[in-house]
Amino acid sequence: MRYYLKIFGCQMNYSDAERISAFLDEYKIKQAASVDEADLVIFVTCGVRQSAEDRVYGQINNISKHYPKKKIILTGCLAHRKDVQRRLKGKVELFCEIKNFPKEIKKILNTKYQILNTKDKLCKDYLQITPKNSNPYTAHIPIMTGCNNFCSYCVVPYARGREYSRPAEDILREIKSLVKKRYKEIFLLGQNVNSYRSVKINFPKLLHKIEKILGNFWLVFLTSHPKDMSDELIEAIAQSKKICEYVSLPAQSGDNEILRKMNRHYTIAHYRKLIKKIKLSFEELRANSDQGKRLALDKLPPAISTDIIVGFPGETKKQFENTAKLMREIKFDMAYINQYSPRPETAAWKLKDNVSKKEKVRRDKLLTEILKKTALENNNKYVGNVIEVLVDKKLGSKLSFGELRANSKQGESLALEPHEYLAHTRTQKKVIFFSNKKIPIGSFQKIKITKAKAFGLVGKIN
Ligand code: SF4
Repeated sequence: MRYYLKIFGCQMNYSDAERISAFLDEYKIKQAASVDEADLVIFVTCGVRQSAEDRVYGQINNISKHYPKKKIILTGCLAHRKDVQRRLKGKVELFCEIKNFPKEIKKILNTKYQILNTKDKLCKDYLQITPKNSNPYTAHIPIMTGCNNFCSYCVVPYARGREYSRPAEDILREIKSLVKKRYKEIFLLGQNVNSYRSVKINFPKLLHKIEKILGNFWLVFLTSHPKDMSDELIEAIAQSKKICEYVSLPAQSGDNEILRKMNRHYTIAHYRKLIKKIKLSFEELRANSDQGKRLALDKLPPAISTDIIVGFPGETKKQFENTAKLMREIKFDMAYINQYSPRPETAAWKLKDNVSKKEKVRRDKLLTEILKKTALENNNKYVGNVIEVLVDKKLGSKLSFGELRANSKQGESLALEPHEYLAHTRTQKKVIFFSNKKIPIGSFQKIKITKAKAFGLVGKIN
């Protein structure tokens, strides 16, 4: 038997898929290279937007029409929804929430397919499964799952249930094992990562413990809620050598009335104050470094990323303007701008979705234009500096073969062909760089930045 994974949505789903793979490996079920070769197709679904949901329906309908013998399992954010189950009845073998995956898939494998695994201990909390990491140098570790916040537009508290934080020992063990295997970048994941709390350990304390793990690796975490962004956490980010200078802090709107309707539990004044504190703590760090204190001198200015929803029910042009104003003022490095999409079960589902599609598109475009300007402004500050990057992949050659031949002297080999690579900075900015030598993928390199673009940098090996 072979399986194929169809993954939609956020990093959490990709991370869950790594645990599904590891679980199926233990049952000697092999991963197929395509749907064609698979007997079992597992959909790890996303319910954040209608478009993501529609793609799942389209693909499942397609598979059941063309490959009626293939079995389909649906997990992720749509699995618990009764309307989804009704709609896909007869096409999906099993609807299963991710937290129940080990138990429920085991039952099916044992009873329906007589596939047994004597190691019963496998049938446990899915977060205790050691994942089959799909990348050899970057790993994503869920440190918590679920959410207690019930933002009025969001499906997560319904799809994943209440917040659950993994024991700190489990997380530390997983990181130590990855560092031993020379992993270079670790992402800590959670829907509301900064409200992590295990026995006597809050999120900043967990970060301090990770900081003490020996090894050269970057640490990134996603995603923080502004109401849980404490001074202790800001200090931990600024002081740490391992925690990257990348802060993902969704504002969602720049208008207090819309924030209230979204049930976000903070005001724009609070959000502004947080950003100011984050930027100031890095500036103070730099100022103090001249006084001979032990500080992380290699730190970059922090990159701030946000999430914004445009066209929330009732959002007036004036309220939208407040969001545009916030974006101009904060000068975000990245913003994930989403056009509001009503989601079943949520509180906002009952509100009239009264901003037209055309207006949502206009607002989205306007914010994207602001983002392009502020991101470029921030990226320009990198030009001329040498910074550390993590190499992701080799791209094509910078020059065409004709140009290379024209540039090389008679009889000279084409050994000077520059290799083109894609990498990223600690601030999660993409960097294209050139080198005459081959560079190992997954290695840290020092790059001199020569050019800035809105969504990336260009440089050469230093
Ligand atoms: S904090 Fe709000 S937006 Fe984030 S997962 Fe929880 S409910 Fe959803």
